[in-house]
Amino acid sequence: MSESNEPISHFIRNRIDADQDKGTYGGKVTTRFPPEPNGYLHFGHAKSIFLNFGLARDYDGICHLRFDDTNPVKEEQAYVDAIREDIDWLGFRDPTHEHFASDYFETLYQGAVALVKAGLAYVDSQSADEMRANRGTLTEPGTNSPYRERAIDENLDLFTRMRAGEFPDGEHILRAKIDMASPNLNMRDPAIYRIRHAHHHRTGDDWPIYPMYDYAHCVSDAIEGVTHSLCTLEFEDHRPLYDWFIDKLADLGFFERPLPQQIEFSRLNLTYMPLSKRKLIQLVEGGHVDGWDDPRMPTLKGARRRGFTPAGFKLFTDRIGVSKSDSLIDFGVLEDCMRETLNESAERRIGVLDPLKLVLVNFPEEHEETCYAPNHPQKPDWGKREVKLTRELWIERGDFALDPPKKYFRLKPDGEVRLRYGFIIKHVGHDVDEDGNVTCVYAEYDPDTKSGTPGADARKVKGNIHWLSARDAVETEIRQYDRLFNVPAPGARREGDEPDVERDFLDDINPDSIHTLTAYIEAGAANAEPESIYQFERHGYFVADQKEHAPGQRPVFNRAVTLRDSWGQGK
Ligand code: ATP
Ligand code: MG
Repeated sequence: MSESNEPISHFIRNRIDADQDKGTYGGKVTTRFPPEPNGYLHFGHAKSIFLNFGLARDYDGICHLRFDDTNPVKEEQAYVDAIREDIDWLGFRDPTHEHFASDYFETLYQGAVALVKAGLAYVDSQSADEMRANRGTLTEPGTNSPYRERAIDENLDLFTRMRAGEFPDGEHILRAKIDMASPNLNMRDPAIYRIRHAHHHRTGDDWPIYPMYDYAHCVSDAIEGVTHSLCTLEFEDHRPLYDWFIDKLADLGFFERPLPQQIEFSRLNLTYMPLSKRKLIQLVEGGHVDGWDDPRMPTLKGARRRGFTPAGFKLFTDRIGVSKSDSLIDFGVLEDCMRETLNESAERRIGVLDPLKLVLVNFPEEHEETCYAPNHPQKPDWGKREVKLTRELWIERGDFALDPPKKYFRLKPDGEVRLRYGFIIKHVGHDVDEDGNVTCVYAEYDPDTKSGTPGADARKVKGNIHWLSARDAVETEIRQYDRLFNVPAPGARREGDEPDVERDFLDDINPDSIHTLTAYIEAGAANAEPESIYQFERHGYFVADQKEHAPGQRPVFNRAVTLRDSWGQGK
């Protein structure tokens, strides 16, 4: 798989290249990302954002951020703000190309009037039930509405009065006059406008009628001069309708040709992570997580608090590619991408997550030794920092074993180990409590073995453990996250389920997905700004919590990912 700076080729890129070669759009590439402001963006949206904004960037084109706010009751300004922030965070926000579908309400209305005048749309006055019954099925054609042959003047009069607010919700509906016998149900005289006396977050009470998605979307694309309108596969059957509306309106002089083309790709599905706003809302509203930005949530806000990075999402979208076949990507692939990019970008620090006291019995009480730890082992130009070695240290409980298994190279009774960036030490004793737990380890250090000094390597030991001076280390809250769900496909039926068993994805929640530890970290990391990300050596990547970490207070760090994929191995 190629991960150079060369764009990765895929079928959409090939389509655009073909249009560029033919000069279809005069060399122009305009895409759009059209979120509905009714929830927070999730990992699936990241795929669409990198695709749309990324293509525009690669072809010197433009990507519009268009808020698809045609549905009045569900949308809120808070979501608009949050979506802007997320796109900004991913590195793509361009306020000069930000639009709202509601800005086009007047044009959309005028387009509908033109369709009515051309005899291409009619006002239907059947009840919702009648309309449903007359729609037909996949195997049977629909039945024409008794109102289908209304005179153009009557349609115009009724539609104008719908717009004027004269009728209650549901009394009439404006429909396209296409073909009730079409094998494609979307073409059976689909609705264009419905009556809805509802307040809109931007247009207030101006409109008692609202356009349907299938009409508003393609017309908005055409208004904005979009060339390639990329959407997920479930819209494939809607494409003939997409083309029908803009083609008819172009005939009526509303738009210039060439018109936008809709191209479908498969949506991102991840194991262990539902990616649908409807389900994410249930997680938040049911109190299963701590809000939309809970680090366990597959939202971009959650990802950011978790310490996932835009670079990681970029690598991920490159790696999974773009295609038309349904795919289910292992959550581990996303974690790998985060790990790989964080390995490049994160400075190293020391954190002792399960602390055990170690006393160097031959190290003078007031003495300190300055050791030097590299900020990044593969990047010498990032420099080194000082870490002070003192008589009392914290080491990891797991780095000392009273009864070590075979091939245990860390500290054990009478054993030797190197304190990373420091000295070789030899175990001389330990304290144990009533339950047999070690409470303190005693060791002697060898002053002739300091790392980085001539001759220090003369004596070799196998083990190498990290440590912090008990005097300088800062007590820290560390949150380690596990997957939010216990099974790869939350809510899916399992082998052996009775035929009538329905599962609820909420039943598959992992009740143990957050572990909070009291740890010690280097003072330099403890004082970092919120959102600073470090690798705590031998542990993983950790981010200073965006909300609860503040310099000068008890630090709070979240684990983004471990160093290796150890999930499922009981670690
Ligand atoms: P959801 O299914 O979570 O409610 P949505 O499709 O309703 O998402 P929109 O706000 O309408 O959310 O989506 C904005 C854009 O993001 C659309 O172009 C949509 O196709 C795309 N998108 C949404 N989910 C995914 C996904 N899982 N993979 C790729 N693209 C997605
Ligand atoms: Mg949608």
